[in-house]
Amino acid sequence: MTSEGALARDALGPTVCVGEILVEIVATTIGEGFLEPQPLVGPFPSGAPAIFIDQCARMGGSAAMVGAVGDDDFGRLNIARLARAGADVSAIIVDRERPTGSAFVRYRPDGARDFVYNMWTSAAGCLGWTDAVAALIGRAGHLHVMGTVLAEPGAWEIIERAAGIIKDRGGSVSLDPNLRKELRGDGETDRRFARMVAMSDLLLPSGEELERAAGVAGEAEALRRLFALGVREVVLKRGAGGASYFDRDGLRLDAPAFAVEEVDPTGAGDCFGGAYLACRRLGMAPAAALTYACAAGARNVTRRGPMEGAGTRAELDRFIRETGRRA
Ligand code: ATP
Ligand code: MG
Repeated sequence: MTSEGALARDALGPTVCVGEILVEIVATTIGEGFLEPQPLVGPFPSGAPAIFIDQCARMGGSAAMVGAVGDDDFGRLNIARLARAGADVSAIIVDRERPTGSAFVRYRPDGARDFVYNMWTSAAGCLGWTDAVAALIGRAGHLHVMGTVLAEPGAWEIIERAAGIIKDRGGSVSLDPNLRKELRGDGETDRRFARMVAMSDLLLPSGEELERAAGVAGEAEALRRLFALGVREVVLKRGAGGASYFDRDGLRLDAPAFAVEEVDPTGAGDCFGGAYLACRRLGMAPAAALTYACAAGARNVTRRGPMEGAGTRAELDRFIRETGRRA
């Protein structure tokens, strides 16, 4: 099969992502954490899986979200936002007991971030296999997995079941390891991670996650191992260094990043992935998909808020025309 065939076509059914839906509240000053009263801005719709689905839908891909929110304004804000992007929100659970999840974030002078999370202790942690989830998965074409959910038993149960059903109907699977240090798991999480890698057609690591996913050191060795495991294509994200595409036929494409002023780096990787996947499933060749993905990541960092810079195809086309590349 050619590299064009690595992922199931959009027409097979929506790309589904399972996991946290949050609001993000951002400190407007730079400094160390939240130990004193300070100005904040938000709530912004957030959660890595939700950012991914939002950008996927905006790009024109068929996309659907599985997650849980509270019966509150934070939840309504998120559902309305995803629906406006064109995503299917039919399998989002509204939990009557717990509030919508939240993340407070403040940037330090060196660019590092301090977080206060209320994630799996919120409605986000109430995920389960419902009739609406079953109906969605039964007509889905692709499953995208964020590594952040592998430590969460409720989400993992859905992912494992959904992966089997979607693969059986000719669908495909992708994984963004997203191994944030705050969320590192245990031995069980590592086993789930290894299973997901082996099941994935497309891998979207950033930095050292490539070697971590392969379980071996060195970029070339890691790629060899991943393709031997059955992965079809790997797209490595390098922040302001751009991104590289690799497939198992030995093709490598390097895309420089767009030259933008970074206002808020959160969500770049998720927007990148959502745009890339939508493009590939819509039948675009890897080089064109990589350009849209880099544009989606770069455009998103120019706006404060984790998905405020996610763009439609027309907005990304304009961004690409008007923005230079880094050397
Ligand atoms: P995160 O998980 O924090 O959202 P990530 O590590 O998964 O991010 P990045 O490599 O940070 O992903 O960003 C994804 C892509 O977005 C990059 O490959 C690049 O194309 C684009 N991008 C990110 N940051 C910038 C930037 N400062 N300038 C230009 N492009 C950027
Ligand atoms: Mg990432």
